[in-house]
Amino acid sequence: MAFEISLAGKTAVITGSNSGIGLGIAWELAKAGADVVLNSFTDADEDHALAREISETTGTAARYIQADMSNGDQCRQLIETAGRCDILVNNAGIQHVAAIPEFPVEKWDAIIAINLSSAFHTTAAALPMMRSAGWGRVVNIASAHGLTASPYKSAYIAAKHGIVGLTKTTALETAKEPITANAICPGYVLTPIVEKQIPDTMKEYDMSREEVIENVMLTRQPSKEFATVEQMGGTATFLCSDAAAQITGTTISVDGGWTAL
Ligand code: NAD
Repeated sequence: MAFEISLAGKTAVITGSNSGIGLGIAWELAKAGADVVLNSFTDADEDHALAREISETTGTAARYIQADMSNGDQCRQLIETAGRCDILVNNAGIQHVAAIPEFPVEKWDAIIAINLSSAFHTTAAALPMMRSAGWGRVVNIASAHGLTASPYKSAYIAAKHGIVGLTKTTALETAKEPITANAICPGYVLTPIVEKQIPDTMKEYDMSREEVIENVMLTRQPSKEFATVEQMGGTATFLCSDAAAQITGTTISVDGGWTAL
């Protein structure tokens, strides 16, 4: 069997995709022929412009649908409004860094809701659609922090370990069907969520931006390079290919060797 990827006729819904990894994945899936649904909680002209740019460049249909992934009903509504969901990429995520005794309760609740519970709600709404279409792919964006821990990121690490568990359960519940569920575990990718952590870390360690990148962020990434959003998109596209039809319930690390340490 030749290794070819054509996602023509498939609709992909990517949560949290008006920037960073989600947007990178949307681009790569659209380049492979999928119609894509972009999402975030905002409803700005720029959000809709991103969808137009993808449509015009790739010739596939792209739409932007506003839905707040911290709200379970809106997660389910996103999938219903999309009308079809062959490929579900659960990507929306936020971060907060603080020691456990000082960790703000509202930040804990928001991280668990957006980074973990949203994937439960969207998966619950999408699986019936995948079953009636007779094909489906769930791609959850976990993290190297879904497999290992670091201090001060309790909520994020709990949510990311949780999404790895949800991925395994989704895979077992769909194992006899032409549906797979996997998690991508990125190491550090230079996106807005990471960019926002740099000033605080500079202050905390009294370091320059370059020192933070080299000595704090990439200290556990043996390649000493950030992974890219295009690489996340390529990995997601591979998981949607026929070659990956028997890959289910597992994690794929794209982390420059982080989890090999
Ligand atoms: P990002 O900040 O660029 O993207 C986060 C996306 O989530 C944005 O599109 C944002 O609008 C959206 N979002 C946030 N709150 C939302 C809400 N309530 N409802 C809907 N959308 C919401 O960051 P990113 O680095 O692209 O992160 C994407 C995913 O990748 C996250 O789950 C993150 O945990 C994961 N990840 C990132 C890295 C990294 O180094 N950048 C590493 C591992 C995992």
